[in-house]
Parts: sequence; C-alpha cells; structure tokens
Amino acid sequence: MDAKHDVLVVGAGCAGMRAAIEAFDVGADVAMISKIHPTRSHSGAAEGGINAALGNASEDDPEQHAYDTVKGSDYLGDQDAIEILCQEAPDDVYQLEHWGAVFSRTEDGRIAQRPFGAAGAPRTAYAADITGHVLVQVLYEQIVKRDILTYEEYFAWKLVVDDGRCQGVICWDLLNGGLKVIGAKTVILATGGAGRLYTGTTNAYACTGDGMALALRVGVPLKDMEMMQFHPTTLAPTGVLITEGCRGEGAYLLNAEGERFLERYAPNAMELASRDVISRAEQTEIDEGRGIDGNVLLDLRHLGAEKIIERLHGTRELAQTFAGVDPIYEPIPVRPGAHYHMGGVDTDVWGLTALEGLYSAGEAACVSVHGANRLGGNALMETITYGKRAGRHAAEWALSNTTVTVPEGIVSDADSELRELLARTEGERPWKIRDELARTMHENFGVFRREDQMQRQGEIVDRLRERFRSVVVEDKGMLFNSDLTQALELGFLLELAQCMVVCGLARKESRGAHARPHDYPDRDDENFLKHTLVTWHDGPQLDWKPVTMTKWQPQERTY
Ligand SMILES: Cc1cc2nc3c(=O)[nH]c(=O)nc-3n(C[C@H](O)[C@H](O)[C@H](O)COP(=O)(O)OP(=O)(O)OC[C@H]3O[C@@H](n4cnc5c(N)ncnc54)[C@H](O)[C@@H]3O)c2cc1C
Repeated sequence: MDAKHDVLVVGAGCAGMRAAIEAFDVGADVAMISKIHPTRSHSGAAEGGINAALGNASEDDPEQHAYDTVKGSDYLGDQDAIEILCQEAPDDVYQLEHWGAVFSRTEDGRIAQRPFGAAGAPRTAYAADITGHVLVQVLYEQIVKRDILTYEEYFAWKLVVDDGRCQGVICWDLLNGGLKVIGAKTVILATGGAGRLYTGTTNAYACTGDGMALALRVGVPLKDMEMMQFHPTTLAPTGVLITEGCRGEGAYLLNAEGERFLERYAPNAMELASRDVISRAEQTEIDEGRGIDGNVLLDLRHLGAEKIIERLHGTRELAQTFAGVDPIYEPIPVRPGAHYHMGGVDTDVWGLTALEGLYSAGEAACVSVHGANRLGGNALMETITYGKRAGRHAAEWALSNTTVTVPEGIVSDADSELRELLARTEGERPWKIRDELARTMHENFGVFRREDQMQRQGEIVDRLRERFRSVVVEDKGMLFNSDLTQALELGFLLELAQCMVVCGLARKESRGAHARPHDYPDRDDENFLKHTLVTWHDGPQLDWKPVTMTKWQPQERTY
C-alpha cells in the first residue's frame, strides 16, 4: 500500500470537491484522486446555472421545486431523494455564496434567478453563463485552504474489495508511470458522466463513465442506464453546448420555414418545455425535412445586443468560434446531442451503494433525483447537496471503523493484467473501436429508440468487446501514457454501452429520455413505473427496483 486515508474521493469535479470538503470538516483524513487537474473537470463547463428555491425572482418554495422535478423526471425520480435535494438546496447555495461564488445579482442585490425549462418559477441561480467555472474555482479554493491532498493525474483503475467492503483504489500514476495502491476506509466515486459514448456530445473527453464501470466490476448495481439525456441545443459537428439559459432569456427555436415549431409540441411552455420534449420535437422536424443540414435554428436576435453581451457572452463566443455565427445578427444552428446520464451507480440518500464502504455522488451516481429526464440546473445542485451528504456519511463511517487491508494478490493480479496489455505488440488500435462505438450508439440508441436498432446495437457492442480483447497500446512508455489510459477507458465504455442496451430493450414503454414512438409510444405506469437495475456476471444481468413515492401520484405530463 502506497498510502492510506480515512476517506478517498475519486473525482475532483463539483461532487468530488464538495464531498472532500465535508469529509474534512467532519474530521476525517481525506484525499482526492483525479485523472486531470481538479479545475479542468467537466463541471467547469457548466454554463446555465444551479437550481434552488431561493424565491428571489418570484414566489417559489422547495415543495414547488420538488414537484417540478418529479414531473420532469416523468415520475421515475425517487421522491424522498428529490425532497431532500430541494429542501437542502437553498442553504447549500448560500454556503457557496459565502465561500465566494460570484452569482449574478438582481437590482436590489440578491442572487438573480433565471427561468429554465419546465420550472414553475425562475429558480436557476447563475454567474452569467459560466456558473460551473465559478463553482469549480470556489470549491478548489476551499480544498487548498484545508490543504486536502490531491493525487493529481492519477487514473483510478480498480477498486480494492476485501472482507466484503471497499478498502481502496488501484491507480495508474500518469505523471511517473506505474501502479499506486491507496487504501481507504471509505471510497466515494464522483467520476462524472459518460457522454463520450456518443459522437455528438457536450461532454469533455474525460467523461468516460469510469466510476460507473469500476462499481459494476465489483458487483455493485447500476440504475436506469437507458436514461441518457439529449440536450436540445448543441452545435454541429462538435456537440459544444449552447446553454438553456438562451431560451431562459427568451430565445426562439425555428425550423427551415421560420416557424416556431414548438407551438405544435408544447404550446404552453414553448421553448421552456423540458429537454426530452424539445429534443424529440427538433428531431421530428429534422427527420420530416424541416431542418437545415440536420439542424434547427436558435434565434437570439430579438434579445438585442446589450442583453446578449451581458448575459450570454460565453454563448456568443462559442457560436462565433465553433459555428462562425454571431448570434446578434444570425440564428445559431443547433441539434440534439448526448448531454447527461440520469443513470449511474445505485445509491441511497446518503450516497451509499450496495457495497459497504463504497459511496457515489454527482453524475456518476443515481440517487435518483432526475428519473427519466433531468431538469436544467438540477445536476449542479445534485453535485453539491449529494456530494456533501456522501462526504459526511463516508467520513462518519470511516471515523468509527479502523482497519484497512489491501490483499497482496489483488495488486499482483492488477500488475500482471497491465503488463500483459502493454506487452502486446499486434492488434487493433483503441480509437477505431471507440469511434465505431460512439457512431453506432448515436445511430441506434439516440433520441428515438427502435427495437430492431437496439438489438443491432447489442450485437455491435458484443463484437466490439470481442475486438477489444486484442487491442494494442503502441506507447510502451511510463510518462503520460494517455494511449494506455484511453484503452482502459474504452473498456469501461463498452461495458456501460452493453448495460444501456439491455435496459433499453427491457423498458417497453416511452418515458422521459427513453422514447419508443414506433412500438411503445406511451408511458406504461402499470408495468414500468420502476427502475432498471443492472449488475455484471459475465455480462449484464437485468433486475428492477421500485420507485419511492411520497406525495405525488403519476399524472399525464404536458407542457
Ligand atoms: C457543457 C455542459 C454544461 C452543463 N451545464 C449545466 C448547468 O448549467 N447546470 C447544471 O445543473 N448542470 C449542467 N451540466 C451538468 C453538470 O455540469 C454535470 O453533471 C456535473 O458538473 C458533473 O459533476 P461531477 O462532479 O459529477 O463530475 P465531473 O465534473 O465530470 O468530474 C469528474 C471528475 O472525476 C475524475 N475522474 C473521472 N474518471 C477518473 C478516473 N478513472 N480516475 C481518476 N479520476 C477520474 C475527473 O478527473 C474529474 O475530476 C452541464 C454539463 C455539460 C457537459
């Protein structure tokens, strides 16, 4: 064992940093592992904002926030977890403010809140359109202030399980090469999403679902893996995100005929309907020939130069750089892109998984507060509130238990596995398999899903996994071997893709992000008001878990 801690947090985005801060404040010896520098985590790319019922912009309360979230989730969210999120959110946001988060302000100096999709009141607190950047910097300051150790550029590759509990992590040290074994009484997976399963995604290159796969490999179930959210406004061909904040500020969506087509899909909420509804509307327009080169148009022109420059400065820059369009004068071409994984590691409301000592929080986890469809602004809030809760519980447990053992066999097996991979001199390059995986997931497991396409995707992923067995890492060196870590990431992605397909085929209904207009166009509460649960035994094994209901019975969902 190279080092030992009470609590080890894997991931240093908003969820990981918030968890580490809380664990430290409870009194634990805590460290973080991150494959990239903490402030480069994908959380820093969040633009639009963070949801809490502060009631600064108009009447609002946690109960209204909870109801919107339950409805937005298409009733698949666990209502106990949602109520906790919405109750604790306001204080958690003020805490961020007191730590120095520079939120945008109302005229009278309170935290400003903008309207976001499917929210009954303007509830999204923001720092212009760089909210994630601001939060990541503020949290990192708190990490540095507490002198919390970060194993930077460490790639977590395997979890150590002994005596029926998680007791550490085996990592690849990117900077120096070689395996490092870090023992811990509790481990928190906060490794973020898996958008890199798709070609068109808003997610950073680091979002390869590592933590979900790590959990899966030690027998911990993943929940609702079919639920990948497509964001309605991403730029072609890169998938760079254009924030929902644009529509919050009043932007229109137009088809090739210049029509605000949402009149036909969501006549009341229009551009502020929920993401699944808008993505489907856009895809239908595009499929039926009313798109422009596979896009629809996001029109900001009527907002005026002043508002665009003040509130949506970053968006203007992105549109200019990546699409060659200045939104003051021209509409931005946009289309749906893979954005957020509602599914993830199954946890309770303290972030605890089925394995003692193992926790998860943030996008890697599925508590579940987002159910079948996440509302914009709720993901950042979840990273903070549930990061905090996981940090607290993991620390309290660690402080009441003492021993950490890492059996030698586990480490030597990992070492041989890696040597074998590096010794291979012939085979296929990982990027070929990765590109094929991402392209076919987009084609066969996208905004709309068909039985035959999902089945085909299952066969494709099987074949890709077979090819992956003889993958070759050309870089044999020790220093910054990203060729090696990308191969390991591909292994993670392939397993997650297989889980998604199995869950998608089993859910024979349309709910939230899982839309099957051709065979099962309606939601079926009688048979499918339940979570999919998948574990791995030589392949994905499907199970189901009931949804926790507290106050709200399912209703038809219209906007
Ligand atoms: C472009 C974009 C804009 C968004 N805008 C908003 C918004 O406005 N509002 C909102 O609520 N949500 C938004 N979201 C969603 C939200 O930002 C994310 O869900 C959330 O920030 C994820 O935080 P996280 O801490 O769980 O993971 P991340 O921030 O992705 O961090 C993951 C961490 O895990 C580490 N890691 C991963 N794998 C390994 C490994 N194998 N070994 C070691 N370390 C590892 C990484 O180094 C990183 O530090 C947006 C998402 C995107 C992509």
